Amino acid sequence: MGENLEVLKKRLADIGQLHRAAAVLGWDMRTYMPPGGAPARSEQLAYLSKLTHEMFISEEMGILLEKSENECAGIDPDSNEAKILRNVRRSYDHAVKIPTALAEEFSRHTTLSEDVWTRARAENKYSDFAPYLDKTLDLLNQMIQHLGYEEEPYDTLLDMYERGAKTMDIEAVFQQLEKPLVDMVRAIAGATPKGDNSPITGDYPSYKQNKLTLKVVASLGYDLNRGRQDPTVHPFCCGFSRDDVRITTRFSPDRLEPALFGSMHESGHAMYDQNIPAEFDNTPIGGAASLGVHESQSRFWENIVGRSLPFCEFVLPLLQETFPVPFESCDAARFHRSINRVHPSFIRVEADEVTYNLHILLRFQMERDILSGKITIKDLPEAWNAKMESMLGITPPNDTHGVLQDIHWAGGMIGYFPTYTLGNLLSAQLWRSMRKDIANPEEHIRKGDFAPLLDWLRENVHRHGSRYFSRELIPTVTGEPLNPKHFLEYLQSKYSQIYDI
Ligand code: MG
Repeated sequence: MGENLEVLKKRLADIGQLHRAAAVLGWDMRTYMPPGGAPARSEQLAYLSKLTHEMFISEEMGILLEKSENECAGIDPDSNEAKILRNVRRSYDHAVKIPTALAEEFSRHTTLSEDVWTRARAENKYSDFAPYLDKTLDLLNQMIQHLGYEEEPYDTLLDMYERGAKTMDIEAVFQQLEKPLVDMVRAIAGATPKGDNSPITGDYPSYKQNKLTLKVVASLGYDLNRGRQDPTVHPFCCGFSRDDVRITTRFSPDRLEPALFGSMHESGHAMYDQNIPAEFDNTPIGGAASLGVHESQSRFWENIVGRSLPFCEFVLPLLQETFPVPFESCDAARFHRSINRVHPSFIRVEADEVTYNLHILLRFQMERDILSGKITIKDLPEAWNAKMESMLGITPPNDTHGVLQDIHWAGGMIGYFPTYTLGNLLSAQLWRSMRKDIANPEEHIRKGDFAPLLDWLRENVHRHGSRYFSRELIPTVTGEPLNPKHFLEYLQSKYSQIYDI
């Protein structure tokens, strides 16, 4: 391959190393850093942002990219080199429009904003956080001005997380979901569960939960030689290379679900990163297709596998061994019903599969409204509560359980939430395709033999890294574009076995 491309790849790998160093600082900030460390950390991260931005948008880089494109003109458009150039061109044209000072300021501000949010959320003080959110919005609007947009400003933010996605397309998909979901929530609210489905509470010490969840995620195929788990307030997955992909989880003293399903969720993300081909590592095709595709992996393991009856049958002996009380008197069907209780609730991350996407639809509408100025930052809590009432029929008792619950807006990530629903929809669509290739996958799950499922995902999704956009990958793997019908059918079939609907 051309010598310019080789030099370009080396420069990009150097920038990649700095991004990875910043990711370690970010991981540390969200796990072990003492609260007092925030101001200095924000300076460290801002400096790294400035440095990488300057390196990436340098004139030399622009010339190198152009020369590489020229020397590679006419190569197979499906080759790795062509995909690398496509991804770099896209990021370069994007980054070069953003002034370095703005990139640096955005990094500094959002680090501080996250720190303020942590306390505002704990103390239920939206007014402390509001000025920071206001400034975030101002910085994002400046970015949108620099980057431009075709149809609406929200497209520009959405594109940062779901390459090439358009607001109108997302809206069209979401519109197909809202009514069926609201109807299903109502139907279930008026239905009787097929047996006891009350929560299985108990005394669950954190160290035992940690041991249990590590066993579970290792059995799924998360390689702990190249990963680890730590406790956090807001669970996430973070990789510094394909050989060091970490997950976090949260332990609730009297409930097992947050840690069990949180760990399974994050391990789904981690297994994606661990299984991207080694030769793609720290290159422009070494990421994911999109955040929506990333989320499909976490939701697949958390919900499609984890909240299924066959998985409950597999995991019950382990639960009984670790926590004889209360699990010795529990059977798999009882556990399955209890972890699939459907009820409108305030907190998105703890929502069941039926109500979950309504939480996302709410945020999608709010984000567009604050961006267009239809809702002011000051009036956001009120608008949030009204929307919760109309969609889920409940009003949060305070802002901690409402507008302050998620880290995303604090971290400057507006446009991110829709990818969660895209991930849910895709997980069901992938499951449908997988079932055509693997005979009786439920039996594999029941036996704890997860390798055929992971192999299928590796072959169909992970192996491609970020060579394809999600809109290219999904039809190749599933035979059609993203189709919400499969998710709705999955819910209908699953919940009619749990409730009399
Ligand atoms: Mg996730």
